[in-house]
Amino acid sequence: STVRIKDFHRHDELQELAVSFNQMLDRMQRYIDQQKEFVGDVSHELRTPVAVIEGHLNMLERWGKDDPEILAESINASLQEAKRMQHLIQEMLDLTRAEQINVQYPNAVSRVADVLRRVTGNMAMVHTDFTISLDMDDLPLETEIQIYQGHLEQLLVVLIDNGIKYSTDRKELNISAGLDQNEVHIIVQDYGEGISKSEQSKIFNRFYRVDKARTREKGGNGLGLSIAQKLVTSYHGTISVESVEGQGSQFIMIFPVLSKVQAQKLRQREQS
Ligand code: ADP
Repeated sequence: STVRIKDFHRHDELQELAVSFNQMLDRMQRYIDQQKEFVGDVSHELRTPVAVIEGHLNMLERWGKDDPEILAESINASLQEAKRMQHLIQEMLDLTRAEQINVQYPNAVSRVADVLRRVTGNMAMVHTDFTISLDMDDLPLETEIQIYQGHLEQLLVVLIDNGIKYSTDRKELNISAGLDQNEVHIIVQDYGEGISKSEQSKIFNRFYRVDKARTREKGGNGLGLSIAQKLVTSYHGTISVESVEGQGSQFIMIFPVLSKVQAQKLRQREQS
């Protein structure tokens, strides 16, 4: 009878093994599908700039030799398009890196107030036609979260840049941060064109732009927010949007706060 019990166990274990093996295959299949989709998206996005450059080179070949105006224009346009492509490639690299962030900086700690002050100060200096205000009344100065400073800066820059890019005549941005129980809320509020309800769920998808042609003019690839979301998630945070079309948008990032002890531990680990 002991043998039968053993067999019974073995059968159970085998079944468990089969189940987890199947799950693993599913995960791998999903991963392969995602990669395929990504490659498809990327090819699609690169097709436009390449076609534009090709068009200009054709013009150059046909008329550029005799017409200095066409010569100058085609060269200029091709250079611009090449720059745009470089920017796109950089953003695509950022996107793939953002998924493995925590592996790179597992013990990074940032003081939120310091980073916010630095970034808003810098942005205000560059965009002098904007009024950029910073409200940290509800944020204790010593508040710390688990994130690499460069990444918190990058996140703020993406959101502030968007607020500026999609602004209308009210050139104003409000950045605010506050502590609510065990979470830090960082809010970037603009008074620009806003985003309709149906678009709000899509803007975090890679390559998604509300108005493809117009955002292209503004230099947008539709990657900023998907990079932002990957980054925020890799640090156990969330990012969301609230917006009314024609009135403006509010982007909200929420991160868990580190206790003094937790922050201390991470710092020690980072140094060792
Ligand atoms: P992009 O580089 O095109 O700005 P993002 O991923 O940052 O890409 O944003 C995706 C799209 O969401 C933008 O193309 C734009 O249509 C919309 N969007 C993002 N931020 C704002 C904002 N602050 N106000 C209005 N629309 C926005």
